[in-house]
Amino acid sequence: MSGAAALDEALCGRIDAQLKALHLPGALAHYRGLAEELGLDSHALKLLERVLAAELGSRELHRYQRNLRAARFPVVKELSGFDFTALPSLPKGRVDELATCRFIPAHESVILVGNPGTGKTHLLIGLGMQAIRLGFRVRFVTAAALVNELLLARAELRVPKLLRQLGAFDLVLVDELGYVPFSREGAQLLFEFFADRYERRATALTTNLPFAQWPQVFGDETMTVALLDRLTHRSHVLVLNGESYRLRDSRRRAAAQAGTPAPVPASGNGVSQGATAS
Ligand code: ADP
Ligand code: MG
Repeated sequence: MSGAAALDEALCGRIDAQLKALHLPGALAHYRGLAEELGLDSHALKLLERVLAAELGSRELHRYQRNLRAARFPVVKELSGFDFTALPSLPKGRVDELATCRFIPAHESVILVGNPGTGKTHLLIGLGMQAIRLGFRVRFVTAAALVNELLLARAELRVPKLLRQLGAFDLVLVDELGYVPFSREGAQLLFEFFADRYERRATALTTNLPFAQWPQVFGDETMTVALLDRLTHRSHVLVLNGESYRLRDSRRRAAAQAGTPAPVPASGNGVSQGATAS
């Protein structure tokens, strides 16, 4: 008992927290007693604190690397690399708010809508990267690939298993909804996927289609209304209304080669601003 006073309580508090984070209840219960038994003072316990910090750091790094591989991003894009001046209609504050990833534990959805080349996929992957950095499990998939995965699973009678596997991801990123129309069966399965995640898990998607045109892709008005109802309830809708970044980029390059400044075109893409409400 005499050595107990020598132990620094603040240091022990930090070690307690580390051992809890590492799920080592046996070590947590015994290390103070062992320190006393060995006549160790707080100075010696600093080694323990440093060793545990190293273990926590390496576990975190491995988890990050594992989650990055599991996400299957086609390319890496960062929110920090996004030029907001290229898209004046998109308030940076809304993206910053999403980047806190509070929508993930709240099981909300994010919908990025806009015409091709406006940076939807860039923002989607950037959000995913941020989520992984914060420790969330993320999976990227294009809508077409997801439908194919679901159709294959149906043929093999394992749709519930696939939904369970996707349900293990805190955030699923569905890219390019609307580029390819689905078969009726594909649309139904996609509906099942979104319904399965509704209020249980977060989902983010990109689409080139204003909501009014969704029935054309899903082929069924009633189902589309039900789907939109779920997706837009507790959702963050961002409209990327502007000119294609790719087009602008190539025009700039061409202008630079010709030695003339790039013309500034009028923006506008026909995507309704009315969809910005969230
Ligand atoms: P979308 O998915 O809307 O078709 P992408 O996200 O694929 O567009 O963007 C096309 C290319 O332009 C990508 O290489 C992307 O990184 C880049 N890009 C688009 N918008 C921006 C932006 N505002 N700032 C930086 N890069 C951008
Ligand atoms: Mg895209």
